[in-house]
Formats: sequence, structure tokens, C-alpha cells
Amino acid sequence: MAKTAVITGSSRGIGAAVALRLAKDGCNIALNDINEGMFENNDIVDKIRALGVEAEIFCADVSKHDECESMVKAIKERFGTIDVLVNNAGITRDGLMARMPEEQYDLVIAVNQKSVFNMMKFGGNVMMRQKHGKIINLASVAGLYGNPGQINYSASKAAIIGMTKTAAKELGSRGVNVNAVAPGFIKTPMTDKLTEEQKAKMLEMIAMKRYGEVEEIAGVISFLASDDASYVTGQVIEISGGLSM
Ligand code: NAD
Repeated sequence: MAKTAVITGSSRGIGAAVALRLAKDGCNIALNDINEGMFENNDIVDKIRALGVEAEIFCADVSKHDECESMVKAIKERFGTIDVLVNNAGITRDGLMARMPEEQYDLVIAVNQKSVFNMMKFGGNVMMRQKHGKIINLASVAGLYGNPGQINYSASKAAIIGMTKTAAKELGSRGVNVNAVAPGFIKTPMTDKLTEEQKAKMLEMIAMKRYGEVEEIAGVISFLASDDASYVTGQVIEISGGLSM
């Protein structure tokens, strides 16, 4: 039977690339984003179905506990299993700490961090009952090393690393692997927003002297979602072209 992969925030960017890659690997795909509008003028569903697997859209705001509960239930009813969960949805609302309004801090924590709790709780429960599953969380180099202007974002991504390790310890004996990837600078709508000066500064720090492509994140996630990674859990894999050396 084909595996089912759930990818949050998968209408575009890294999430869409992961959805496509896991479809190529033979998984049926449950796409998610915050609303239907994100899938308008977007051929991701057609591209996935053209690969001979099933694809369905499940809209939900993953920062909302009850919406995640309903979504996981609907995905389980539609596909029968949840074998892979990729917690990819995320936002930035950058600004210096000294001037950051409280709401700006709270929003990023809710969308990036609480969403991972929501989805690991409900998705993880399904996986525990099945006695197998792979969860992959999107952290960031900002969570490993910090980044000026991203107090909210780096807090959320550092938290994801701790949550990944805790969930790996809680779910390991039930055959569920939980890992994180920490991308560096990847070309997506999220990083398009940065100024040319910010982009040039980043490039200087990258050993490979280029930005990453979404497919390069999807490839590592494909490995972590595969049987080849059956004894890998609680790990954080940095995918940054050598940003931190
Ligand atoms: P993106 O902005 O292109 O895509 C993020 C997606 O998440 C969007 O489709 C968005 O609509 C969706 N989303 C936002 N809030 C949501 C919510 N409440 N509920 C459901 N969906 C929601 O960003 P991306 O660059 O593809 O980033 C994907 C993930 O990778 C994020 O978690 C991001 O923090 C992480 N990341 C990205 C980079 C990078 O350089 N692009 C680096 C490190 C980590």
C-alpha cells in the first residue's frame, strides 16, 4: 500500500518541493496551506497526480489546535494512514527586538512553533497507533546560531529543535522517528523579501558561495522519510552549503 505524506504549508516554496519529491518517491500526498487561495493559479496538485499518486488539499491554520485535530482526522479518513509528516509551514516577521511589538513576537511563535506541537500531537497519535511513522520538522540555522532581526523566528526555530528531541524520545519506542532539518538561505518567496544587502551579506558566509535550491532540502527530507533512515532519530541536519564552519 502507498504511504501517505502530510506536508504543512505546501502550496509553494520548500513545502511544494517536498510534496513533489515525496510523490516521486511513491507517497500519496496530503497538501496543506492556510486557505484555498494559496492553491489558486497553482499546478502543484496536477503535477503530483501526473506522477500516478493521489493528492488532496486540506486547508487549516496550523497554529490552531482544533483545526489541526480536524485536519489530521480528515486526512486519516481519506487515506487510511499517515506515514510521513513534514512540519514545514512557517512565517517571518522580522524586526529588532528593541522595537518589536508583542503581537509580532506572538504570531511567529504561534505559526512556527505551536503548529509543530499541534501537528506532532495529533499526527504522532496516529503514528503511535500504527507503530510506525516519520516526522520531519523544519528548523533553521537561525535557531542554531541566532540572527539579528529575528528574535521571534530564531526562538521558534530553536524551540523546534528541543521539541524534535523530546518527541523522538517519547515516540521512539513506538517505531516513530522524529528529526529536523535546519536550512540556511534557500531561494523561496520567504527569502525574496530580503534586501540585496542582506542577501549579499549571507552569501559571504556560505562556503559553497551560492544559495540553496528547494530541491536540495526536499532531497534530505526524502532520505529522512525513507526506510534508509530507520535508525536515525532526534537529529538535526543542517543544509546550508557550509554556513556554520
Ligand atoms: P514560504 O513562505 O515560501 O512558504 C511557507 C508556506 O507556509 C506558505 O505557503 C504559507 O502560506 C504557509 N503558511 C504560513 N502560515 C501558515 C499557517 N498558519 N497554516 C498553514 N500554512 C501556513 O517559505 P519557505 O521558504 O518555503 O519556508 C518553508 C519552511 O522552511 C518554513 O518553516 C521556514 O521557516 C523554513 N526555512 C526556510 C528557509 C529559507 O531560506 N527559505 C531557511 C530556513 C528555514
